[in-house]
Amino acid sequence: MGTIIEPLRGVHDIPPSRIAAWQFLERTTREVFAAYGYEEFRVPIIEQTQLFKRSIGDFTDIVEKEMFSFVDQGEDHITLRPEATAGIARAMISNGLLRPGRLRVWCMGPMFRRERPQAGRYRQFHQIDAEAFGFEGPDVDAELILLSARLLRRLGLGGVRLHLNSLGTPESRTVYRQRLIEYFSAYETELDEDSRRRLRANPLRILDSKHPQTQRIAAGAPPLAESLDPESKAHFEALCGHLGAAGIEYHVDQRLVRGLDYYTRTVFEWITDSLGAQSTVCAGGRYDGLVAQLGGPPTPGIGWAMGQERIVLLLEKLGAPIVAEAPQVYVIASGDRAERAAFEITERLRDERPALRVLANLGGGNFKAQFKRADKSGARIALVLGDDELARGAAALKDLRGSGAQEECPLERLGERLGALLQLDMATTGKA
Ligand code: ATP
Ligand code: MG
Repeated sequence: MGTIIEPLRGVHDIPPSRIAAWQFLERTTREVFAAYGYEEFRVPIIEQTQLFKRSIGDFTDIVEKEMFSFVDQGEDHITLRPEATAGIARAMISNGLLRPGRLRVWCMGPMFRRERPQAGRYRQFHQIDAEAFGFEGPDVDAELILLSARLLRRLGLGGVRLHLNSLGTPESRTVYRQRLIEYFSAYETELDEDSRRRLRANPLRILDSKHPQTQRIAAGAPPLAESLDPESKAHFEALCGHLGAAGIEYHVDQRLVRGLDYYTRTVFEWITDSLGAQSTVCAGGRYDGLVAQLGGPPTPGIGWAMGQERIVLLLEKLGAPIVAEAPQVYVIASGDRAERAAFEITERLRDERPALRVLANLGGGNFKAQFKRADKSGARIALVLGDDELARGAAALKDLRGSGAQEECPLERLGERLGALLQLDMATTGKA
């Protein structure tokens, strides 16, 4: 006998009982991106380790301790992607899509970070990702934020708050960096170990620390706005203007710096009060230097990533209106002849009504047992095939949810009758 093999820590299955929320999220995502003319871009899950080191930056949590990296049998250094932006930027360059480069894309899929697992924080998780290349902004900054706002609204998650900040240009950040080093040096011995190590190399990271005592010290740090260059200031004000005109509420958050190195100017996060410590459901920003840093033609870029697990947790918690895709019809057959005929009749029904969701009873059983399964399946109608009905060229249709009414229907009219009973144009919408 074999021993049970457990799943890896921080890695989760998504069982059928939770899939409706995931499909609702993914369906809505596709619709909203289509409404803004964003195109789907599917990129690999494995990339060269160098890609993430060069883009995300040393002295970040991801690169220092969270990447799943390995050397394969051919001596290639490979990393499971911890985020999507670097891979998409790499793919834009590899596919020569940046000359001339104006492209708005999205992708969705698993990401991997070796973090300490807790509610809302996993080692394999999923992100929805939006990116726009070749736009200086600030109109595209506003569009991407409006897009994320619309997606959250469409999901029924209107209560999430938008935090916004500007990091300025790399030059103005250098000035700010110096001021931060001066400020934090006074508290050097009180900082956590990571922050002490980052103090001189990358003090902005300290503002993003999750360590409570470091956070208290960071709260007194000089605000970034004082070091902002005039162009970045104008960019930020124009973005705020767009958001105000669109009726989007936002909170300018001077401490918001974001965890990755490649950000410039606009950074933002959507934050909820309903998920405890893992409160950021979507985060993004502008990365004007990234493409050039990866060897591509200098191209401005901006994007965001939404954590799908956190959104699903919110949907489940807030009881969002999720459309489940339960079967509509359960096919019951009893008797030798009927069981054989059921296969053919069910397939014919699927030919006729491609969007109808039909579940066949397999493995026999008496009528009572089959009706029990039909009930449990969530189907609205049982299509009952018995030898007697079949001899008359008919089947019985029984309403399992409402009245419990039963009627007999000629076999050749089953598709039409089911359509009428389910009151939908299944050929076109596929939804009930
Ligand atoms: P955090 O500060 O929570 O660690 P982050 O800044 O590392 O987040 P990003 O890299 O900006 O996160 O990723 C965007 C979004 O992806 C996050 O806001 C979150 O919703 C989700 N996310 C990030 N890491 C995880 C994880 N380990 N498990 C689940 N969701 C995650
Ligand atoms: Mg993180």
